[in-house]
Formats: sequence, structure tokens, C-alpha cells
Amino acid sequence: MRSPPETSELDTPSRILMGPGPSMIHPRVLRAMSTQALGYMDPSFLEIMDDIQELLRYTFQTDNEWTLATSGTGTAAMETAIGNLLEPGETMLVRTTAYWGDRMAQMARRVGGDVASLDVSPTEPLDPADVREAFEAHDVDVFGICHADTTTGIRQPNMSELVDIAREHDAYTIADCVTSLSGVPVHVDDWGVDVAYGSPQKCLSSTPGATPLTINERAREKIEARDSDPASWYLDLNLLMEYWGDERNYHHTPPTTPYYGLREALRLVAEEGLENRWERHRRVAGELKAGLEDMGLEMAAAEEHWLPSLNTVRVPDGVDDTAVIQFLMDEYDIEIASGLGELDGEIWRIGCMGYSARRQNVACLLTAMQDALE
Ligand code: PLP
Repeated sequence: MRSPPETSELDTPSRILMGPGPSMIHPRVLRAMSTQALGYMDPSFLEIMDDIQELLRYTFQTDNEWTLATSGTGTAAMETAIGNLLEPGETMLVRTTAYWGDRMAQMARRVGGDVASLDVSPTEPLDPADVREAFEAHDVDVFGICHADTTTGIRQPNMSELVDIAREHDAYTIADCVTSLSGVPVHVDDWGVDVAYGSPQKCLSSTPGATPLTINERAREKIEARDSDPASWYLDLNLLMEYWGDERNYHHTPPTTPYYGLREALRLVAEEGLENRWERHRRVAGELKAGLEDMGLEMAAAEEHWLPSLNTVRVPDGVDDTAVIQFLMDEYDIEIASGLGELDGEIWRIGCMGYSARRQNVACLLTAMQDALE
């Protein structure tokens, strides 16, 4: 017999989370998540799901009937979107040079799709002229766009224009709104995107595990008319919607506690109001940006593409980026992150999301940063 390992009751350090996610969980969300479980067919639980759907429609600004929470993290929602919308042999257009675009491309290939690469700089927003050119060069079925890039801190403008280009070519659009949903304006119906997903653990300040996803009628019709079933049974939207829709057929046991958390997080969005929430992110992150610039630091993203929920700051010459990150953690209990991929060592990534997006956190971070750089 193997003997039981020695462990102690959970006792985590108290951190201020200002990295690229997760953000700090709102206390009301934490309270909701300490609620006892319910069976997945309990009428009270089904009501919670209905609430989540209605609140998500508000948060995404959509009337889409197919609006749900996927069991898993943002990557699961991304894989659900691609695995259902793209059929084997079809072509997906993505910016393969960017971190999230590359992840989308890998998923597209795994479901038997072809990838058309938008081989453009990952540190600039997509230019509609490049997108149009790519659509003219390839027979594209699905176009993937990252609305808010957590690796570069850039917000993609012209969403409607990009979607229109796809529509003119009879293609469908998937928008990654993981780092934008509820932090900066997202208008799913006005943009006309066919599928969009967000994240519970970024600007919503809930826990990973139940991820927002919405699909419009046009995409739904394509998914319902597929020639072959999606490769993943777990992420098959036609089956999932039999549980989220009127049939209420068992598919898999939903992650109860993350649903409770997501519902409360979305209620907080509704109470604050989307416009106020966007304005708060802009104002608080604006103070952060101004404070960093006053210290002589330079923001990596251009002002016009700045993403308040994720601020990228250039590491000054001669400064060890990881030493600063460690100092903030050791001395101030603050988490920020280094750059990913090509930007490793070049930038810091400072999140300002949801419950973390508060003036007291920004003031603390600015003090800590000043101290670290002295
Ligand atoms: N898309 C973007 C833009 C992200 O920033 C992330 C994670 O940070 C993901 C997708 C993947 O989400 P997750 O890590 O929750 O699976």
C-alpha cells in the first residue's frame, strides 16, 4: 500500500493579479461559488443556465439563441468554434504569425481543414487591405480574428469591415474576444461576427471552467447541415445545444461551481452596465499607462490600438525583465508577466481586468514598479 502524502489545508498567498489572466475573482463571485451543488436536471439549476444565457446575450450584445458556456477554458471555446464551423477539406484564414492565430491554425489542421496564412506582422492590427488580398488569393470558408491580443496588447479596430470582407466571399467569421469581453466594447450582432467566445477569468473576474460562446443563425445553419459529425464528441454543438436548448438532454455533467461563478460575474456586469464597465477599464488602465509613462517607460502598443485590459510596456535597455517580475512578486505580492514568444524579454504584460481593474491596485503597482527600477 502506498501511504498518504503529507499535505496541509489550502492556504494560498494573497496576490494582486495584474498579469494576462486570471484576474482576481470578485468577492461576490467567490461567495456564489461556495454554494452547494445541484443536480444537472434540477429545475433550479436549469434556471441558472437560462440566466447565464440571457446575461451572456447582454454581455456579447447579441440576440443569438445559441449562446452558452462551454465546459473548459478559452481554448475549449476556441476549439468548439473551429471544430464545429470548419469541415474537413475547408479552408480557414488566420494570421499564423501571431500567437493565437497560430493556435487557431493548429486546431484547423487537426479537424482536417486547410490553413491559408495571413503572413503579416503580429505586432500591428490586421489591415483590411491585406485581408481582402488574402480572400482574393484563397477560397476561404472560415476567417479567425483575435479582437484583443493578450500577447501584444493590441485591439483590432475595423471589426465590421473585416467581417464584411468575409461575407462578401461567403465566409464565416470567428472572433476571439477572450481579453475584450466586458472590458472593452464587443458588439457581436452589430459587427456581424458568426461565432464569438470570451473568457470567464479575464475581464469577467470569475473562475476558469465555464467559457462564454455565442453562435448566430447563419453559423448554426452551417453547423446543423454538416456532412460529417465534428471530430470531438465532447465539443459537438448540435449535441451540446440539446442540453442548453429546450430538449434538456443530458450530454455531460456541467461544471456546477464555475456556472455559479459565471452567473454572478455576469450579474455584476449587468449591474455596473456595459458602458460604465468599459469606461472604468479605460479610466483605471489610463492611470496605469500615465503612471508608467511618467516613470519614463514606453508603451509597446500605439495609442490608437491600446487595449486597456492588457497593457504592454517595453523593457528598458539593461533591465532584466524577469528580475523585475520576481521583485514585484516577492516584495509586493503583485503578479505581472513577461512577453510571449518573440516578445519574451522585450515587454512586460500588465493586465487591468475586471475586479483587478481598481485604482488601489494601480497605485500599488506603480509604487512597486518605481521601487523595482530604482
Ligand atoms: N485567446 C486569447 C486572446 C487568450 O489571451 C487566451 C489565454 O490567455 C486564450 C485564447 C486561451 O484561453 P485559456 O488559457 O483560458 O484556455
